[in-house]
Amino acid sequence: MTRNTWIARLLPALVALFLALPLEAQKKPETCPWCKNDPALLQACGVLSHGPSPVGPKGSEAIVHDLPAGQWLFAETAHMRWASSLGPMVVELDDKKRVMAELDRLRVMLPDVPKEPKKLDPWLRLHLMAMKGEEFYARFEKLLDVRDEDFPDARRMDKPYMGNGRYLGEKEKFDVVVHSTLAAHNLFTKEFTGASVTGALRWHFKEPHKMLVSVPAEDHDLKKDRWLWPHIVHNLSHVFFCAYKHFSYDPPIWIDEGLALALEKEVEPESATLEGEEGSMRDGKGPKDYAAAAKKLVGSGKARSLAELTEVKEFGELSPEDKVAVWSRVRFLIEAHPAELAKFLGGIKGQLDAQQLPTGSDLPGLQRKLLQDLGWTSFTFDEAWKSWAR
Ligand SMILES: [Zn+2]
Ligand SMILES: [Zn+2]
Repeated sequence: MTRNTWIARLLPALVALFLALPLEAQKKPETCPWCKNDPALLQACGVLSHGPSPVGPKGSEAIVHDLPAGQWLFAETAHMRWASSLGPMVVELDDKKRVMAELDRLRVMLPDVPKEPKKLDPWLRLHLMAMKGEEFYARFEKLLDVRDEDFPDARRMDKPYMGNGRYLGEKEKFDVVVHSTLAAHNLFTKEFTGASVTGALRWHFKEPHKMLVSVPAEDHDLKKDRWLWPHIVHNLSHVFFCAYKHFSYDPPIWIDEGLALALEKEVEPESATLEGEEGSMRDGKGPKDYAAAAKKLVGSGKARSLAELTEVKEFGELSPEDKVAVWSRVRFLIEAHPAELAKFLGGIKGQLDAQQLPTGSDLPGLQRKLLQDLGWTSFTFDEAWKSWAR
């Protein structure tokens, strides 16, 4: 072999190697292109850091190590910790308005955020989730009529019971892990639940007292932020409400699910997360227009009574009509009786027994009593709701 042919043979390999280096660097950038990990910019957009962080049961480094993905990105904000392996997303024409409005909000904090990108890169998607997560946390606190200062680091016996920590009553921030594949979601959740789950999973870690949501974003719908975000909001509504005054027992299904659907639909009216095995959404079960369906249901006189609904103990016991009915009742409270709603939610969570310990005993009785305090029986409540819904 002459020297020249040796170089000629080796050259393509060398070229390939050099080309591969920047590609590899592109695949795993150390620095976020939007905040550039700059402390002032991070602070401006409400992100405390891009990791490492204690997200999940063993922290962000374990996630990177244990879960195969193109790229894991992290963001910690005031109340939440995010892990995301989402790839880039093409901005579709019919979704452009929504995306542009969100980018406008983010650009106020991060001036380099593009005006009309054709694609959102994984960092931009993460920053948008981090921003909207905190916006939703504020929305939820408003609904509960509480502020951060209402939640002490640990339980105080000299004040009304508010749980055991600063995050609505939990010790730690809320974790959200968004997986680009169902396989990674399975692997991740199996380690601490011991079970194989297909849909989004909500979990309470007794140690160190924190709530986590794990979301597989593999379904066609969930690949798009337009449907993924309301699905995350639905799950966050459940964990925020469970966490409120500490997660010591499951809240009544009807109000828990009604609230999650109401808040999900505030974000995207056409989205409706289904609980249980199916886990996916928009699969044709349930009506497209909940408001119209509620009117029809009330008109038919077949809506299940609140007295019955307060006894429901599993998500699976709610029929598609029941979901419309619980969604509508919660909307009635949000729109016509926000102060009463806050009192009702506050009373349901943090019930104490004679020893001043949280107890989930006789929740139907507790609900009757709370309604009574607000001037309703379950019958007169339903009458008020029906005339509002009509
Ligand atoms: Zn960033
Ligand atoms: Zn739900």
